Amino acid sequence: MTTHSGSAHSWNTRAVHAGKDDLAALGLHAPPIDLSTTYPSHDVVAEAARLDDFAAGNDDGGPPVYGRVTNPTVRRFENALAELEGAEAAVAFASGMAALSACLLAQVAAGRPEIIGVRPLYGTTDHLLDSGLLGNSVRWVAPEEAASAITGRTGLVVVESPANPTLTEVDLRALTDACAPVPVLVDNTFATPVLQRPLALGATMVLHSATKYLGGHGDVMGGVIACDEEFARSLRQIRFVTGGMLHPIAGYELLRGLATLPVRVRAASATAAELARRLAEHPRVTQVYYPRLGGAMVSFETSADPIALVSAVGLITPAVSLGSVDSLIQHPASLTHRIMDEVARKDAGISPDLVRLSVGLEDVEDLWTDLTQALAQAVR
Ligand SMILES: *Cc1c(COP(=O)(O)O)cnc(C)c1O
Repeated sequence: MTTHSGSAHSWNTRAVHAGKDDLAALGLHAPPIDLSTTYPSHDVVAEAARLDDFAAGNDDGGPPVYGRVTNPTVRRFENALAELEGAEAAVAFASGMAALSACLLAQVAAGRPEIIGVRPLYGTTDHLLDSGLLGNSVRWVAPEEAASAITGRTGLVVVESPANPTLTEVDLRALTDACAPVPVLVDNTFATPVLQRPLALGATMVLHSATKYLGGHGDVMGGVIACDEEFARSLRQIRFVTGGMLHPIAGYELLRGLATLPVRVRAASATAAELARRLAEHPRVTQVYYPRLGGAMVSFETSADPIALVSAVGLITPAVSLGSVDSLIQHPASLTHRIMDEVARKDAGISPDLVRLSVGLEDVEDLWTDLTQALAQAVR
């Protein structure tokens, strides 16, 4: 019989098998989808004890009670993602924003409502922190100023690297060293654990909009936090009462996505690096942003009309979001980062001439043909 013990295999192998170690013994090959909202229990006393345990944020992998609290299909995805990020635990939510909200609520409830934010961040993350809608306050700082902004009521340092949409990279090791013991949350949506594992660089929590690369096919929404078991308990407590649980079908799709994540990210990154190189030499491109870390996102500033450019593509889809098997292009100042304060947008380096490209798995020559014809058409 084949077994897949965690440490015995390489990371790429774990991406294929994580969360599925028990399947063979169950006589299964594909993971089952459990759509139950409730579960039979003829032992009321035992069930009551389990509910108390869930309310305290524990999830020992035992029998589920109710679909808002825990679900076996979702748990497979959580276990797999935790393993790939090198975390003790992971807690999955209905979207990336639901996952981030749970982190904020946990810290606000613990009497640590002050958030330190490093711009640029995903537009809605920026808006959530800046609006104070969840009872938090925020101080926006440069990475090297983060430590000096810490007070006794600081709950979280929030950072994205590479950041959206400028692909700015932050020295995560320097930041986490400087801010310890205040928890640092790293949004790892762009890099994915294929290219960067922030917990190994001292981060406390890793956020993914699983909607993007983890799902990878533009057909599932989800969010997840990878962290230690203590934080996971507070996040499960919040999820239990706010109901932002990931749907089991989404859990199934996300687990399936993890198996191809390394191959997808590496292939799309190679294409993105080549497109970044060619764009840098194009006469209508004034600046190209591509992370040293690599990745499948490329941003560039153009002397052409950026809005006309985004409308002129054919093969590439003009759309927000990213991380799908097909390529997407969008204009951050009009769309994803529209919700930000205008001065803050300029300060974060998000120029009105900036275009953001999410590179998929198409052939590099077909993408280049589409980009160059769109650049040619989009004369100001
Ligand atoms: C999309 C995204 C989010 C928000 O995730 P949703 O799944 O849309 O709620 C957060 N951070 C980054 C970097 C994103 O790209």
